[in-house]
Amino acid sequence: MTEERIFLSPPHMSGNEKYYIDEAFKTNWIAPLGPNLDAFEKEMVSVTGAKEAVALSSGTAAIHMALSLLNVTKGDKVFCSTLTFVASANPIVYQGAEPVFIDSEPETWNMSPQALERALQDAFLEGKMPKAVIVVNLYGQSAKMDELLSLCNQYDIPIIEDAAESLGSTYKGKASGTFGRFGVYSFNGNKIITTSGGGMLISDDVGAIQKARFLATQARDTAPHYQHSELGYNYRMSNILAGVGRAQLQVIEDRVTARRHIFDRYYEGLGQLPGVTFMPELENTKTNRWLTTLTINAEEAGISVETLLELLNKENIEARPVWKPLHMQPLFETAKYYSHDEHEHVAEQLFQTGICLPSGSNLTEDEQQRVINCLKGALTPVIVKEGII
Ligand SMILES: *Cc1c(COP(=O)(O)O)cnc(C)c1O
Repeated sequence: MTEERIFLSPPHMSGNEKYYIDEAFKTNWIAPLGPNLDAFEKEMVSVTGAKEAVALSSGTAAIHMALSLLNVTKGDKVFCSTLTFVASANPIVYQGAEPVFIDSEPETWNMSPQALERALQDAFLEGKMPKAVIVVNLYGQSAKMDELLSLCNQYDIPIIEDAAESLGSTYKGKASGTFGRFGVYSFNGNKIITTSGGGMLISDDVGAIQKARFLATQARDTAPHYQHSELGYNYRMSNILAGVGRAQLQVIEDRVTARRHIFDRYYEGLGQLPGVTFMPELENTKTNRWLTTLTINAEEAGISVETLLELLNKENIEARPVWKPLHMQPLFETAKYYSHDEHEHVAEQLFQTGICLPSGSNLTEDEQQRVINCLKGALTPVIVKEGII
């Protein structure tokens, strides 16, 4: 009999969610407005330190709103990390703009400052600067924000920080997601906390977030009748789901601690094996370790990522390759792309060798041991002088 399936990153309820849901039912706030929604936004402000937040139907919607607030429109260019989930870039296309993809660098796996610098220089020479740069914090790890910000500031280009995977992480002591003009979080079912589906847009620009709240509720003008002067969207979060979010946010610190422990146990169990390299943690940052990710050097490890994934799947363990870079996607075939340097394509390399292991905060030690044992059985063992250990 095969053992129960171990999922990559399943939802993990705190137990308090029902209280806020019941409250919404008792008071009949079954709508995309209400007390849970107001409170959830305030609580996100206090957790992140941003000045204002608006709760939306998804992280994708939050990116879309940020681009809309920055007046990104047809014919514009927007730079975006290439190593990410497609949702980071899709809203660029919703706005009729053109994405330009920027490679990763090896220390964070996130946007390479030197690739960004070349892309900005080219854009400057062409006389067509990007309207925004979308910087992704992958698997919880903050990008090199100081370097990226200083480049963007030289040309006065706003950063949208896609922190969908990095809620609870910090960069130099400050919350991940609060470094760009706008920050984006996701509460999709697989994220570190979840509302089943949902997102949040944050900023220190209070007026911009108020504008987003207006645009996300069909851009309804103040008038007794239904009057609209601007194009709006139906992007608000439901008051019921905001209740789930409130209970989830109360345990964010526990969730980060749990995921970091999971990383530590994988590292202890597998870190010494030949050909295995774990995703680094940049100095002065704390990653939430949303997913434990590592790369496999097939030659040294004696097995390819592909075969390893098949093997794990046979053991009923859900593992995944690292995101396929967006410049390699058929959807973005014609998009421009800047590599880390001429001969080094970091994101492509990570895609070929990377693997994400089950990392849910509710993963038990026994379950994790099952994953470790399966990997240990497949990878080349450590060779010491006395023989094999
Ligand atoms: C999950 C995710 C998104 C999209 O969030 P949704 O809430 O699913 O729309 C965007 N960017 C990254 C990097 C993500 O992981």
